[in-house]
Amino acid sequence: MVLKNVKENSCIVIILRLLLLKSSFIIRGEEFRTAFQKLKTLPAVFNDVPFMALSGTLPTSLMKELPNILGLNNPVTVQESPDRTNIFLKKLHKSKIGDTNEIYESIFKTECDDLKKDPYNYPVTMLFMPVCYISQAAAYLKHLFGDGDITTSCYAVLFSRQDKVVLKTTVEELQMEYPRIRLILTSSVAGMGFDPPSVMRIIHARPPRTLSQYLQEIGRAGRRGQNSSAILHYNKRDIAKNIPGIQEDIVQYCNNEETCLRELLLKPFGLSKSPGIANENCCSFCLNEDISKLDKAGAFDNNV
Ligand SMILES: [Zn+2]
Repeated sequence: MVLKNVKENSCIVIILRLLLLKSSFIIRGEEFRTAFQKLKTLPAVFNDVPFMALSGTLPTSLMKELPNILGLNNPVTVQESPDRTNIFLKKLHKSKIGDTNEIYESIFKTECDDLKKDPYNYPVTMLFMPVCYISQAAAYLKHLFGDGDITTSCYAVLFSRQDKVVLKTTVEELQMEYPRIRLILTSSVAGMGFDPPSVMRIIHARPPRTLSQYLQEIGRAGRRGQNSSAILHYNKRDIAKNIPGIQEDIVQYCNNEETCLRELLLKPFGLSKSPGIANENCCSFCLNEDISKLDKAGAFDNNV
């Protein structure tokens, strides 16, 4: 009777997003298929119940494969472009001078010093870094701003097991048009429900391991439609073949210096950039910037 009621009154919705966020190195290839084999039994049991599968971003190869993996018959695909035309895309070569620690230090100190100089005009920024450098950056911020807590601070640190009060306060503050919190240090916000509207800038101190993850993370900017930017710092070491889970799409995004970044970002998802976007609003390539010159001069504009 329960099964009959389910069949008559329901549809089944499969949320793919959380699994795919981790797909780069936790659930991929055969592991991915093994996990989804169990879902394949659902259409067999509920053979006359409609199914809907939802995902944030899917590479075209996986999009073609998923109906088979999930056991769906004659599915209809509805796709909306994740292209956010209010986000300017920029890549920056990381310095080749100094050790890894010094390179990360240079990135986070630049941001922390700018925040200290003028917190009210500092664009609300999420800075993605490896956890070990987040703790160094937090210590540096404490040195600059002194002791404080999340109720008074102009910055926040988020990680997966962060205190719920800190997360809640940060999310609430960033709902405001002019939030007190201007800089958020994090390694990942996957699974935190962190999608605040005031963020204007996303900085990655190193690339994530998949283009899908990058697309989802930069999508945290410009949620009100405000002009925003996404800046990716990278060097060869960040995209070396021996990095666990690193995928070719993010390697291509970093290495290719002869194509519009927006096109590079969207192509693996079978999409093109939105028509009509002006070069100065698109990406550093379309602005015809010489990234290597900027790198040498260290003269990129943090307020783009
Ligand atoms: Zn472009």
